[in-house]
Amino acid sequence: MTVESKDTSYVFQRKIDDKGLLCVGTKNNGMYLVLEDPKTKEQKVVLDAMSGAAVSSLGHCDPEITELMGQFAKESVYTFGGSFGNYAAEELGEFLCEKSDGDFASALWTGSGSEANENALKIMKQYHNELKDYKRHKFVSRNQSYHGYTIGALSIGDGSRKYAFSDILIDASKTPKVSPVYPYRNQKAGQSEEEYTQELLKELEQTFIDNDPTTIAGMIIETVGGSTFGTPTPTKGYLDGCRAICHKYGALFMLDEVMCGLGRCGYSYTYKSPEFGLSEGGPDLCSVGKTIGSGFVTLAGVLISPKVKKVFVEGSGAVMGAQTYHSHDFNCRVGLAVQKKIYRDNLIENVRVNGAYLKEQLKLKLKDAKYAGDIRGAGNFLSIEIVKDKTTKEPFAPSEAAGPALGALCLARGITSMGLSGTIRNEILEGGNVIMHGDHLTVAPAYTFTKEHCDIIANSIAGAFADLEKKYAA
Ligand SMILES: *Cc1c(COP(=O)(O)O)cnc(C)c1O
Repeated sequence: MTVESKDTSYVFQRKIDDKGLLCVGTKNNGMYLVLEDPKTKEQKVVLDAMSGAAVSSLGHCDPEITELMGQFAKESVYTFGGSFGNYAAEELGEFLCEKSDGDFASALWTGSGSEANENALKIMKQYHNELKDYKRHKFVSRNQSYHGYTIGALSIGDGSRKYAFSDILIDASKTPKVSPVYPYRNQKAGQSEEEYTQELLKELEQTFIDNDPTTIAGMIIETVGGSTFGTPTPTKGYLDGCRAICHKYGALFMLDEVMCGLGRCGYSYTYKSPEFGLSEGGPDLCSVGKTIGSGFVTLAGVLISPKVKKVFVEGSGAVMGAQTYHSHDFNCRVGLAVQKKIYRDNLIENVRVNGAYLKEQLKLKLKDAKYAGDIRGAGNFLSIEIVKDKTTKEPFAPSEAAGPALGALCLARGITSMGLSGTIRNEILEGGNVIMHGDHLTVAPAYTFTKEHCDIIANSIAGAFADLEKKYAA
């Protein structure tokens, strides 16, 4: 007897044996998805307001890039990065180092953000080894963070996807956690932003002290958080404060900009935001991914500061280990073409300008929405926290799964989004199962979006909130 039915799915992802909707194409300058129900063959065209997992910076099937991809496929030669380099990896590195105004001097190209962070942990460990400081092996990170789904990346992350695997992760004593920046819920009444920031930094320094600071290798945080609790931006001075504490105790300071970086928040690097970024200079390492290849190729990477590079150059001169698809020639060529187009067409400025418009429209159209709480984010990376009561900020019961429910209502109204639960915290049960408290909805359209797309997105979300009210009133 087999368990397969006629509608069986051969892909072990999402819901097992349920194909869900399948994407079969794009429309309207790569801004829309054509989705098909595999059973009925019925099609639905929706605005891709989420770009997958905030990936497609140029929209889908960009004709300039696909033309180049045909050419690259004919010219590109695969070599193993451990043996030979290639000009594409060099040029992509040079291009993005140049855009950092000297903050970075080198880059390692990987196939995914998880791998980029995984490699970064090893680079940080090796950095200290090069300095003969062999004791450092702990990584400080934050609660409610996401750094990827591989074992090392899950260990430094937090959130609902982690706890079922706790006993096969890096020991929690080596991955101490601190609070995230969450003023909407954690900044006390009467407390200024400055005081709240100082409270967070005090906790961080105490965590260093409590975990023997001479054993801490580095700290890794998302400049702007992603899916875990909905695009939280840091408070002013927070990033400077974290970097200062890391350096005071000889640890490295790393930013994860896999989801929020490379233009998504309106600046070349999100830590350069004048609103909440570092006041000067950069982090010691920075991971990037998602939008770098716009979903045309699987590409991510770790950018390395001159300080870190120098220690390697003056030490062993070599990075330990290489993966089959590090510095992949074809992927790097496509990534470089995507990045060049983003800069040539001033698309990061478009994200800044139209992103501000979208945020304003969301605030305007959700002003009277009963369940729309905090509206936050930067650039076109924006979220709305869903609450049962705007005044008390009381969340919906976890059993309502209000985040996914709102996401489904948005899809019914013609836009993609990420409606998720677990915004406030995860209650951990036996076996690492979790009850997810709090809900939010995130959007992150392609950098090529227009004001017209913003209006569609804001109207659809406002409509979906109204639908949710009707649903719960019934
Ligand atoms: C998506 C993401 C990752 C992991 O990248 P993958 O390409 O999915 O492996 C890491 N960090 C952040 C902040 C992310 O959003």
